[in-house]
Amino acid sequence: MSSVSARSSRKIYPAHGDPIRIVPLHTTDVAQTPTAEAATAPAAPPNLTYRHGPLLANVEVFTLFWGPAWQAAHKALVAQLNEFFDFVLTSPLIDQLAEYDVPAYSIRHGKRIGTATIVTPALKHSVSDTAIQHTLQSEIAGNSVVPQPTPNTLYFIYVPPGVRVIQGGSASCQAFCGYHNDISGQVFYAVMPFPGCHGCTGTLSTLDALTSTSSHELCEAITDPIPGRGWYDDVNGEIGDICAWKTKRLGQYTVQLEWSNTANRCV
Ligand SMILES: [Zn+2]
Repeated sequence: MSSVSARSSRKIYPAHGDPIRIVPLHTTDVAQTPTAEAATAPAAPPNLTYRHGPLLANVEVFTLFWGPAWQAAHKALVAQLNEFFDFVLTSPLIDQLAEYDVPAYSIRHGKRIGTATIVTPALKHSVSDTAIQHTLQSEIAGNSVVPQPTPNTLYFIYVPPGVRVIQGGSASCQAFCGYHNDISGQVFYAVMPFPGCHGCTGTLSTLDALTSTSSHELCEAITDPIPGRGWYDDVNGEIGDICAWKTKRLGQYTVQLEWSNTANRCV
């Protein structure tokens, strides 16, 4: 987790003790002058190296929408996000990750294996990563719709509007727009706070912001499911961090560019 704070969020490449696993805030606003560009330039050219941990070679995504808003005002987004995963998991976005194959793991197309919307436990104004882990484990144990974890399972947890997510002492919309994490190296998940602030939408629509952030975390979870133990750069973080908020259109969707060691640029 990055230690980036609200005040220092203009640093895209923060110093950190723990692996970076977040989508930082959109920072175009502060990168307009040469001085600001220089201030945010990486200290070393990006180069991801493999740290001998697992990869999600054939990722199986399960989407979990938390809160009654997903059954009401934002019901359409549930269908759109599920359709996004159905598309993107067999798209060139996954193909381009094959350069990160290692002997034990060949990154190939994935699939979405299901979805659920839960309304309990009820959310208040904020929710911690610890509470999210607890709820995820409770759902895995007690909700027959939610699959048991495998080495390829990736749970995507979508949080409704008005709920701040707290992770590593930082908050969504103040320091980050999403992150991925693991529970004991066995359960892999990503958390998507609702992009209810300029820092987490930039110039994008809500759907485009969510697909951009989701693609960022998807590619990072595939290549570095236990943060810092897969493909990682000690200075620049994970594959998506290096290219944060650089987007492209893929099919009808907005996705984020990802770092390519081979091309030596964001692709
Ligand atoms: Zn990231």
